[in-house]
Amino acid sequence: MTKAKTEGPRVLIEAARIKRRVRALGKRITRDYQGQTPLLVGVLRGAAVFLSDLIRHVDLKLEVDFIAMSSYGSATETSGQVQLLKDLESSIDGSHVILVEDIVDTGLTLNYLVGNLRSRNPASLRVCALLSKPSRRKLEVAIDYLGFEVPDRFVVGYGLDFDQQFRNLPYIGVLGD
Ligand code: IMP
Repeated sequence: MTKAKTEGPRVLIEAARIKRRVRALGKRITRDYQGQTPLLVGVLRGAAVFLSDLIRHVDLKLEVDFIAMSSYGSATETSGQVQLLKDLESSIDGSHVILVEDIVDTGLTLNYLVGNLRSRNPASLRVCALLSKPSRRKLEVAIDYLGFEVPDRFVVGYGLDFDQQFRNLPYIGVLGD
């Protein structure tokens, strides 16, 4: 029998769990940045949903900016080459930057971004990632605030896509089950 159209990818992390975790991350950031005005840099497009929920749980004066990267290769495999597609709007010199990523897979994108941003002389730089696939890591990268570890499966939803689809799912799902 063919699958009904309403049937989406299999649920890996349900919406309520994401909500609780994002709230907890927001509270930790609020505690850690007391007296400061952090600049949260979202990595487009995947981190847009996560960032927009996260900042509503950060009870501080804060700023937001976005950066976009491209990676070459097929839709589910990162080829290892990364390129800056869209730069930040403003200088981060002297700012307390929190880089907000959707998922850290091989670590190549994050490694490039951390190196790139660090060279712009921020007062501090930390990384907040919704998801991490540690078994896929090629480059070790420190994640200061992490939502969830996920197995070596292609995940979609809550901002993450497959071929630009599924970003609007309220949960994290697994494709191909
Ligand atoms: P990395 O450079 O291999 O760490 O890959 C990071 C980027 O690849 C992420 O920011 C995502 O855009 C994409 N990516 C890696 N794994 C997945 C996945 O399971 N689902 C959706 N996108 C992914």
